[in-house]
Amino acid sequence: MAAFDTPVQHRSDKETLVCLRTLGQPDPASLQAYLNVGGYKQLQRLVQDKVKATDVITQVKLSGLRGRGGAGFPTGLKWSFMPRYYDGTKYLVCNTDEGEPGTFKDRDIIRYNPHQLIEGMAIAAYTLGARVGYNYIHGEIWQDYEIFERALDEARAAGFIGENLFGTTFSFDLFAVHGYGAYICGEETALIESIEGKKGQPRFKPPFPASYGVFGKPTNVNNTESYTSIPWILEHGGDAFQALGVPNSGGTKLFSVSGHVERPGNYEVRMGMPFTELLDIAGGVWKGRQLKAVIPGGPSTAVMPAAAIMGATMDYDGLSKAGSSLGAGSMIVMDETTCMVKTLKRLSYFFYEESCGQCTPCREGTGWLYRVVKRIVEGEGRMGDLDLLTDVSSNISGRTICALGDAAATPVLSFIKHFRPEFEYYIQHGKSMVTGKAE
Ligand code: NAD
Ligand code: SF4
Repeated sequence: MAAFDTPVQHRSDKETLVCLRTLGQPDPASLQAYLNVGGYKQLQRLVQDKVKATDVITQVKLSGLRGRGGAGFPTGLKWSFMPRYYDGTKYLVCNTDEGEPGTFKDRDIIRYNPHQLIEGMAIAAYTLGARVGYNYIHGEIWQDYEIFERALDEARAAGFIGENLFGTTFSFDLFAVHGYGAYICGEETALIESIEGKKGQPRFKPPFPASYGVFGKPTNVNNTESYTSIPWILEHGGDAFQALGVPNSGGTKLFSVSGHVERPGNYEVRMGMPFTELLDIAGGVWKGRQLKAVIPGGPSTAVMPAAAIMGATMDYDGLSKAGSSLGAGSMIVMDETTCMVKTLKRLSYFFYEESCGQCTPCREGTGWLYRVVKRIVEGEGRMGDLDLLTDVSSNISGRTICALGDAAATPVLSFIKHFRPEFEYYIQHGKSMVTGKAE
């Protein structure tokens, strides 16, 4: 059935496979592969034994699972926000709209283990009393969307989603929704608007989706990797998941490693792994070159010079202490030949292009940032430009409806902070200090 029989990337024995645990099976995305690793047993147990929702939430809290989409909000706590008693339909949403540059982990979950995601969502629906679920899948991954649709058909035919599951009164309908490629639709309230058939623009929060979500009803939104971790947590216990990681960062994490490494790809490892070990799994910096910098969690997390990240561990606290954050685990590696000025121009363009235009600081500010960095790269920069960039960025941060404004400011502030001499050189000489060339 699956279009992909085996993962195309290198696998390492230093990985710990929780979300990708069907890898190694002949047809990892198939229902049979998931049943072979004990799939759907936890859903069946909870539903048939009428396990109390509070007991499930206790295990999720014990697991230390935090939102894998980037914000790192504790999943068990979020689940406890959903109203227990509600006279109407409650909804469940999975956010598979990963769109941050360098972020490509959720698509591999769908590609290689979609049934574990479906079971995780069904367990969440049972726990939170949701009757209907949607998996919102990023616009540019049609092939993975089709794999998920096929998995839904299999799960429905086998009685794992649908009406009166396992002969009980519990029913859960799950649907795939196709996005159309707008980065902003990954913001949970824009995503909800898009599911409702409207233009995907973020809403003001609060109210949070737990009280006002899809069609104004209580809705739980989690990331793909978060839901996919749930069956393992219920099978082995919250403590066991927590023990895979480090305090405050339970479990495993999928890192999308890209850029200047020998073996780019997704690697699932225990939280708290030293950065150097993860880099080693990805084959190290390519062509024997020196490491210059790393963006550890996607461009909405601060860039780190080599010296800062070499001693860091890959978990929430480890990266925070080292001056950045884990984000969605989208690790972009840059070698010594990278011009940071040109890199910033590319990132600034992305945020400018993807701003939904709803709030003035973001709509005007992202364009302003891009145009100033662009003129530096084109040899027309002025010495005051670095202070101007810092000033504009600082005036976007914290003054917008959603996190895109902050995300746009982060690379500008962190690139200038850590690589200021490169920017000054470019302005003074009209060309890159690293490549010796102008754009
Ligand atoms: P957030 O911190 O505002 O919220 C995190 C989650 O917790 C949300 O689901 C929110 O509804 C919930 N929440 C927070 N406080 C709550 C409360 N008081 N009551 C009820 N629910 C509450 O973060 P966000 O704006 O959802 O996400 C921003 C993050 O997304 C960034 O940090 C970035 O790393 C990440 N991101 C990821 C991608 C990607 O492609 N994966 C793209 C862009 C951004
Ligand atoms: Fe739209 Fe930017 Fe405002 Fe977010 S911060 S709502 S992307 S204009």
